[in-house]
Amino acid sequence: MKPVSLIDPKAALRSDRSGWPRHLLSCDGLSIEAVEQLFVAAREMRLVGRRRVKKLPTLRGRTIINVFFENSTRTRVSFELAGKRMGADVINFSASGSSASKGETLGDTARTLDAMNPDLIVVRHGAGGAPWFLAERLSCSVVNAGDGINEHPTQALLDAFTLSEHIGDLNGKRVVIVGDIAHSRVARSNIHLLNTLGAEVICVAPRTMIPAGFTDALPATWHPCLDDLIETADAVMMLRIQRERMKQSLFPQDREYSIRFGMNPERAARLPEHAIIMHPGPINRGVEIDPAVADGRRAVILDQVENGVALRMAIGFLLLGGSGE
Ligand code: ASP
Repeated sequence: MKPVSLIDPKAALRSDRSGWPRHLLSCDGLSIEAVEQLFVAAREMRLVGRRRVKKLPTLRGRTIINVFFENSTRTRVSFELAGKRMGADVINFSASGSSASKGETLGDTARTLDAMNPDLIVVRHGAGGAPWFLAERLSCSVVNAGDGINEHPTQALLDAFTLSEHIGDLNGKRVVIVGDIAHSRVARSNIHLLNTLGAEVICVAPRTMIPAGFTDALPATWHPCLDDLIETADAVMMLRIQRERMKQSLFPQDREYSIRFGMNPERAARLPEHAIIMHPGPINRGVEIDPAVADGRRAVILDQVENGVALRMAIGFLLLGGSGE
């Protein structure tokens, strides 16, 4: 695949986007070629984000609506910045300020938004499957920004991009995902994508945080002990405990959890020299990750954030292309 310079908008308009689907709903089924194409574009977009003038005309005249029915800091700001840096008109709305809080159904909200002729709708919703529901009913492209505990494809793509920037080709690499797998859409999307890219994924969690049938349904294995794997991991991805999705506590207390499953300086020191520590955020310091590790030399958490904007710019470009002028 030939790399394209997206700094030059004319080159951006000419480049090949044929491998890209119309919507980005899941990491399951994304082709290696589509992912590589995205990473080439994201690398260029990151350079744009580091310039003094951080704007391309590529999506000028296009309209993006960010529809967030669940809380978000990083993802929402990242999508908004990405759209604006690509030159699109970006509108944000959240459930608390929308007619969803007046009882409007998702179907009616969808039809209303569609009537405004957007080019792309980015949706986060508490119900798994909501982005598919919208994609079937809207005439524009849809990007899943997190649906319940199901998937968070742009997070996994920015994670894989960050991983490949730090540890190179992911084929044959071992990625250990630690924590609340049961409620993590980040874990699910990462498992699909990392498997496509040839990495081995091992999930480490208390048994109560691994759903029944998990390893039959997804290409990953489960291991109950982080210490067994720490010396062979190329990367460790720490997850937040998603208390907002739990009906009951799945472990006795935070201290106990953090002793067995937390990333502390002693464990970080036992990782291979090249290994990195990731976290999708928001982090709970002192629970899944010690503050000294979160701010330490192996943590790439802020790289993930920077790469997230670049990656979402690249997604906007690949889904929508240029203005056609
Ligand atoms: N920000 C990620 C998500 O929306 C992870 C988290 O909330 O812990 O799923």
